[in-house]
Amino acid sequence: MRALYDTGGGVIDQAVVLWFAAPHSLTGEDVAEFQVHGGRAIVEALGAVLGTLPGCRPAEAGEFTRRAVVNGKLDLTQAEAVADLVAADTEAQRRQALRQYDGALGALCESWRAELLKTLAWAEAAIDFSDEDLPEGVLADTRRAAADVREEIAAHLNDARRGELVREGLFLTVIGPPNAGKSSLVNALAGRDVAIVSETAGTTRDVIEVRLDLGGYAVILADTAGLRAAHEAVEVEGVRRALARAEAADLVLLLLDGSDVNSPQYLPKNMVNKPLLTVWNKADLPWPARRDGLALSLKTGEGLEAVIAAIAAKAKERLDAGGDAPMLTRPRHRLALEEAAAALERAAGVREPELFAEDLRLALRAIGRITGRVDVEELLDTIFRDFCIGK
Ligand code: GDP
Repeated sequence: MRALYDTGGGVIDQAVVLWFAAPHSLTGEDVAEFQVHGGRAIVEALGAVLGTLPGCRPAEAGEFTRRAVVNGKLDLTQAEAVADLVAADTEAQRRQALRQYDGALGALCESWRAELLKTLAWAEAAIDFSDEDLPEGVLADTRRAAADVREEIAAHLNDARRGELVREGLFLTVIGPPNAGKSSLVNALAGRDVAIVSETAGTTRDVIEVRLDLGGYAVILADTAGLRAAHEAVEVEGVRRALARAEAADLVLLLLDGSDVNSPQYLPKNMVNKPLLTVWNKADLPWPARRDGLALSLKTGEGLEAVIAAIAAKAKERLDAGGDAPMLTRPRHRLALEEAAAALERAAGVREPELFAEDLRLALRAIGRITGRVDVEELLDTIFRDFCIGK
């Protein structure tokens, strides 16, 4: 504990003061941390004193993280993860952000970069030295190595956007014939304190998006045009159209009125290429037949928990398939890897070593943009020096 004084010599507070000497701090710079008693008057008084010191000013948004990146303490994916951690509403978002903060995605990209860098060094060697100076089969080896990296990248691109969906939330669309209880369901889901995260107006005036935390996954329930279309349409065609519109969603919940003898005609026949959950509402009324699927009564609330659990299970199925592999969490990761894969694809098709090397360079640059490392030439020099070709 240390007493902190204002400029007049008066005590501001008793505080814990921590000193982190460079480079062993979060930002890599000298950092002093004051742990004060948190009251606004204390913080303001301390801020006022610090403001009188030369070079001292309040940090800008994200400035600590930015400095950490500039000083090589964090790569860009880790910096993004800091933002994601702060914004995480659900368990899945928190877990994914923490993994990225730990450097999982950055390490994966770096491993590809290291492999390609080595390959590039050999390709350059093949350009600069004659065949006799090189180990046998070098060119074939470099081509195989480049193809292996391309395959790995392709496997990660083929992830059904899971990382982005965990981060942004899964779109759930509720469809069904008029009067099935769609609005009641949306209200019931959104009205639950445990489920609701936030309610935000969408892009158009009359679209309301409700962000829900269902079983740890972010789900965005949009009271969409598809829903409205089903409201207006009386015939099966209306539901068919709503289903077609639901193609834009990640999950579709078909809500039917169990007490209505006409309900079965609305059951889709492979019209939707999405995870579909069929729920029969109005279980409090007598039903004319046995219904396959989840039974629900929005009037009594019976079955609502099971519906929520079923949505969460579908979300888990959709988002958890990746196992432990680091996820691409932002479109820019995907774009960069697509660019790298395209360059490697081109590399596979060219004969001239110069063009092959150039495509490798482009792939390296694209991958380097993900973590913020683009100093290909410099690293190449280092690696190249280690080769014992010639004397
Ligand atoms: P939507 O047209 O599909 O959005 O359906 P609504 O949510 O507007 O509900 C249509 C009607 O069904 C309303 O009068 C609701 O009160 C009623 N309703 C909704 N759920 C139930 C339920 O579980 N049991 C009963 N008996 N009536 C329900």
